[in-house]
Amino acid sequence: FSRLRSGLSKSSSKLTLGIGDLFTKRKLDDEALEELEELLITSDLGVATAARVTKRLAKTRFGQDVDSDEIKATLAEEIGAILAPVAVPLAPDFDRKPHVILVVGVNGAGKTTTIGKMAKFYRDQGRSVTLAAGDTFRAAAVEQLKVWGERTNCPVVARETGADAAGLAFDALADARKRGDDLLFIDTAGRLQNKADLMAELEKIVRVIKKQDETAPHDVLLVLDATVGQNAHSQVEIFRQMVGVTGLVLTKLDGTARGGVLVALADKFQLPVHAIGIGEKASDLRPFAADAFARSLVG
Ligand code: GDP
Repeated sequence: FSRLRSGLSKSSSKLTLGIGDLFTKRKLDDEALEELEELLITSDLGVATAARVTKRLAKTRFGQDVDSDEIKATLAEEIGAILAPVAVPLAPDFDRKPHVILVVGVNGAGKTTTIGKMAKFYRDQGRSVTLAAGDTFRAAAVEQLKVWGERTNCPVVARETGADAAGLAFDALADARKRGDDLLFIDTAGRLQNKADLMAELEKIVRVIKKQDETAPHDVLLVLDATVGQNAHSQVEIFRQMVGVTGLVLTKLDGTARGGVLVALADKFQLPVHAIGIGEKASDLRPFAADAFARSLVG
């Protein structure tokens, strides 16, 4: 919790300082609400969510004298209420042998790192995990996944640069099944500048793994870099159309003033947020906890 709080300090300091400026002790009137709404919008909560939060606040406190601590507490409650329904832990069904998790997102979002962190988490629980280096376009991505494989003692299925990602995913699933592994993570390319190609590639991966297990993939995780702020919305929309996202992971919440975007995403898409990234190390992945996040964000 304290790591999360310090990680989110950039997001929260903006909100906190702003609230402090607005409400030393002040009547919660239309003008105050409007200023608060603006502050929430500039803190990346987005127009619709900011309006919703302010409205809820007005319902209970309109016309009353409030100070910044009261505003923060109520705000944290309202934000927590928006986040609670999406705070859903990842729950692999290990009896599937393997439970297949396809990981998608734009280049640099943190897919490979998140896979490494999750592999570490499940290995520590004694689970067997296979990693598939499906971002066959970038040699560096393959190398990076191999490093995580060594670190976590997981087999990595990889091919030469430019190889067919779907074929690789098919083989990786066959390997994992043969071994009776608990989990298979499939890394993918994130070349959004070539949307049609990427979509075809992701569709093909899904199609071929279904030949072995028609229920797979069991999760499609979209990894989003929180520092892109409002751009995250269009990434959710694009990847949802391409491949049917089942849950989100938000990364880089340690280095950004834009943690508020998570609230806006939760409000708009209601997709489960399974975990958040707060650093580059294996241990820097946290289950997403609504209240702790809301309190850290508000400061
Ligand atoms: P990919 O292209 O989506 O696979 O992204 P990578 O996993 O290669 O990550 C891109 C960069 O972001 C790397 O330098 C990672 O170390 C870094 N990164 C990933 N997650 C986090 C995070 O939660 N916090 C920070 N600070 N850096 C991260």
